[in-house]
Amino acid sequence: MFKKKLLVLSSPSGGGKSTLANYLMTLYPEIRFSVSCTTRKIREGEVNGKDYFFLSKEEFEEKVGKGEFAEYEQIFGNYYGTLKSEIKKHLNSGNSILFDVDVKGAVSLRNNFPEDTLLIFIYPPSFEELKRRLEKRSTESVEELNIRLERAKEELTYKDKFDHSILNDVLQEAFSDLEGVIKDNIE
Ligand code: ADP
Ligand code: 5GP
Repeated sequence: MFKKKLLVLSSPSGGGKSTLANYLMTLYPEIRFSVSCTTRKIREGEVNGKDYFFLSKEEFEEKVGKGEFAEYEQIFGNYYGTLKSEIKKHLNSGNSILFDVDVKGAVSLRNNFPEDTLLIFIYPPSFEELKRRLEKRSTESVEELNIRLERAKEELTYKDKFDHSILNDVLQEAFSDLEGVIKDNIE
């Protein structure tokens, strides 16, 4: 159904990836979410195996050693990575896959699957608004939040490496822009 089967959403932390990803999956139930592995602490409301596979540093490094990751990065002092098996499982069952990864992970996925990736960058209306959204989300300590904001400055410079970029200001408009990009990818 989709021309490019690997749909990659990326943005600075708090940019709106999870919000847009959830919306997209309600519109297209045939899209499967690529559950990443991470060593960060589980947040309230998150489910192991659904939002992430939560691993210890040792478990993660063992998988790195065995070559189990299609890509992985160290972000905010934790590991995050996409399992090759996760991609294989969904592609074998004929489904498209949605990735929520950082900007470097997005570029790695494109390098690994150049013909099959659609890279979509989500960006906030301003740095101040990004800060407000992260503060309101209240999932990080002040220190962790500042690390995320510091990294956001570099991440925002990746916008031009993506196939599409979507401004996430008014949420309904971002939803419809994303829908437009996805519809253009339907054969
Ligand atoms: P990410 O997954 O990129 O870290 P989230 O989807 O968790 O970002 O969004 C960060 C926070 O901002 C969440 O609390 C979310 O509800 C909120 N949010 C997302 N988009 C908007 C928007 N357009 N306007 C206001 N708040 C938003
Ligand atoms: P969070 O801790 O907010 O869930 O995620 C932090 C950052 O890690 C986000 O930018 C998210 O997209 C990214 N991320 C999540 N999973 C992966 C992954 O498998 N690979 C990479 N490279 N980044 C990931």
